[in-house]
Amino acid sequence: MTKERRGVRSHPIGLVTLDDGRPIAAYRAIVRLTCTDCARPILPGALFSRRTQPVSRLSAGQGRVDVCAVCRPLHLEGHMTVPSSAGEEEGP
Ligand SMILES: [Zn+2]
Repeated sequence: MTKERRGVRSHPIGLVTLDDGRPIAAYRAIVRLTCTDCARPILPGALFSRRTQPVSRLSAGQGRVDVCAVCRPLHLEGHMTVPSSAGEEEGP
């Protein structure tokens, strides 16, 4: 149900920590992607995160956009778990 079937563009690596300490699912790019916020290329092998964007002008109907690690710094701290069901967020 959560599988994307249009070709693999990234690989989930688990949860990392944001600057404010909140956990977020991080991904490693497999192909060259583009950051939605700064239009900077996310090169293969680079870490990035995703955020949900209200579907307004996106004709594709997809609400998830890629955000590079420059716009949203990611901290690979101790608790790195790879969830079996990617996309779920853990709350306190
Ligand atoms: Zn960016």
